[in-house]
Amino acid sequence: MDPWSSETGDYSKVFSEFGVKKYSSGDIGHRFFRRKIVVGERDFHLILEKIKAGKKFVNVTGVTPSGRNHLGHYGIMEMFKFFKDKGGKNYFAVADIEAFSTKQKFSKIEELKEMTLNNLANYFAMGLEKKDVYLQSDYQSRYYSFGYEIGRRITENMFKSVYGSMDSGKFSSALLQFADILHPQLSEFEGKMPSITCISLDQDPHARLSRDMAVRLPYDFYTPSFLYIKHLGGLRQGKKMSSSEPETGIFLDDSDLEIEKKIAKAVTGGKQSLEEQKREGGEPEICKVFELLTWFEEKDKEVERIRNDCKKGKWLCGECKKHCSDVIKKLVGGHRKRIPSARKKAEKFLS
Ligand code: SF4
Repeated sequence: MDPWSSETGDYSKVFSEFGVKKYSSGDIGHRFFRRKIVVGERDFHLILEKIKAGKKFVNVTGVTPSGRNHLGHYGIMEMFKFFKDKGGKNYFAVADIEAFSTKQKFSKIEELKEMTLNNLANYFAMGLEKKDVYLQSDYQSRYYSFGYEIGRRITENMFKSVYGSMDSGKFSSALLQFADILHPQLSEFEGKMPSITCISLDQDPHARLSRDMAVRLPYDFYTPSFLYIKHLGGLRQGKKMSSSEPETGIFLDDSDLEIEKKIAKAVTGGKQSLEEQKREGGEPEICKVFELLTWFEEKDKEVERIRNDCKKGKWLCGECKKHCSDVIKKLVGGHRKRIPSARKKAEKFLS
């Protein structure tokens, strides 16, 4: 599994071979649980216990700055905000060193600044606050010394067995990822405390090795918990929504017209002709438009109605795409309105 790739793959082995448990704790207050977008977990019971008891837990995630944030990032940010609202102690890593280490196009970290500013504005527009966020390249010294301590514990063989190859850029960025996940439990930060990180299934290699590190390091840590969500597919089959492939995704700074055009071109589960679709029904399971609705349509009943009516041939792709465009334009439009003040916060944060 390559957590840095924009290709999709068969992730079933994270359940069958690598010990991710199917998620079975029901809805805890977000549509991603109800709609089975949350699919797996590792030690999530530790977090549920804390939430039920009104006690603190660490809420940690990291997003690599990318040219533009898309709806897949929006989903990860939504989950982070969800656990913040549930009482988490928040550590949101802006993984600029990871972006620098794994993307060849940058020769200096400075070159990421504009991108980081844009992404930070998005995080603040989603309701994150300055105290929730840190930059990998500009953080507390204990975080970096901890990264070196982790590096001492990882052998080349361990790294290769999890990631498939030993690449120096990936190695250094992975070290900081483990530091991101584990450092909140150091005494200089929160001390020993269960932590939750919400990731997509393809990021499981990071989860496995950080859990391994939690046990190997000479500290008294909880093994970090993880929640796995499906990755949001791109608008074509076989692709993740990815910043490096703009035509496959919907971005938080897309105009209404761009959103309409992209959704109009999305791959659907519709039939060759209207007559055929009315007769045989469509296939929402393989439809990219339906996938977007499953993620972002607020009303559960509406999602179910569309699924059923599509299958019966009573709801057709034209009206469905129009409805989906309206849902996404509303979401992106609301976000767009919050950007000017969020951008000011981001500028202040970076200065
Ligand atoms: Fe997809 Fe909607 Fe067409 Fe059904 S009607 S195949 S859900 S676009």
